[in-house]
Amino acid sequence: MKFHVMTLFPEMVEQGLHTSILGRAMDAGIISVNTVNIRDYSEDKHRHVDDYPYGGGAGMVMAAEPIFKCYEALTGVSSPKNASSPVKRTRVVYLTPWGKVFNQEMAKDFAKEEELIFLCGHYEGVDERVLEEIVTDYVSIGDYVLSGGELPSMVMIDAIARMVPGVLTNEESGETESFMNGLLEYPQYTRPEEWHGQKVPEVLLSGHHAKIAEWRMQRSIDRTVQYRPELMDEVELDKKSSKYYRELKKQSDPE
Ligand code: SAM
Repeated sequence: MKFHVMTLFPEMVEQGLHTSILGRAMDAGIISVNTVNIRDYSEDKHRHVDDYPYGGGAGMVMAAEPIFKCYEALTGVSSPKNASSPVKRTRVVYLTPWGKVFNQEMAKDFAKEEELIFLCGHYEGVDERVLEEIVTDYVSIGDYVLSGGELPSMVMIDAIARMVPGVLTNEESGETESFMNGLLEYPQYTRPEEWHGQKVPEVLLSGHHAKIAEWRMQRSIDRTVQYRPELMDEVELDKKSSKYYRELKKQSDPE
C-alpha cells in the first residue's frame, strides 16, 4: 500500500515512521511512505505558502494554489471535481479537528485502498476552496487541537498499515487487540510469575486453552465496562459471554 503525505514538514513524517514494525514493512516493500513538501509548489519568490485570513482574525491560512499544484504533481489530476474518467480517484484525507473521529473500523476501511493521500494543515488551517476541490475524507484524531496534521497523519498511517496483510507477523497478529472485536483487550502478563508480591492469574499458567480464552473474554468485558461502557452497546457477544455480561450488570445494578 502506498501512502503519500502532503506536508510542510516532510522530515518529521519520514523520521517518525521509519522505525519498528512500519520500518520493517517499508524495507520489505509491503508499504511505502512518500512525503511531498507543499512549499516546493509555491510560486512566491520567498516560498510563502500562507497568507492573512479574509475577514481578519488571528493567524495565517495555508493558500489553495501550492496545495493544488502539489496534488496535481502527485496524481496527474487537474480537475478532480469534474473528472468524468471511470478511473477511481485516490482518496485524499484532510486531517482536521472538525473531521470524523478516527477509529479502528475506519483504519480497516482505509486499509482496503491501494493508495492514500494525506493533507497536513498548519497555522489556522487551509483555504476552504482547495479542500472542496480535492478532499474526499475529513478525519480528526480526537477532540483537541494540535499544531499541524503531521502527527495525526502518522497516527493514521500506523493504524492503517497494521491492517495491511503482511505488515504484522503471525505472532503480532492484530486479531486479539483492543477494538478488533469491539472490546478492549484483556490484561497481559509476562515473566516472572510473581512480581512485587503479585502473582500471575493461575488460569494463565494452566495450559488449558478454553479456560484461558474464557478468562480473557471476561476480563475484556470487565475492562470495557469500566473504561468504555458505551462500546458495550455495539458489541456482539456469544451466548456464554452474554450470560457473563448479564450477570455482571445484575451485580452492579441489582434493580
Ligand atoms: N483553526 C483550526 C480549527 O480550529 O479547527 C485548527 C488548526 S490547527 C492549529 C493546524 C492543523 O493541525 C489543522 O489544519 C490540522 O491539519 C491539524 N490538526 C490539529 N488538530 C488536529 C486533530 N485533532 N486531528 C487532526 N488534525 C489536526
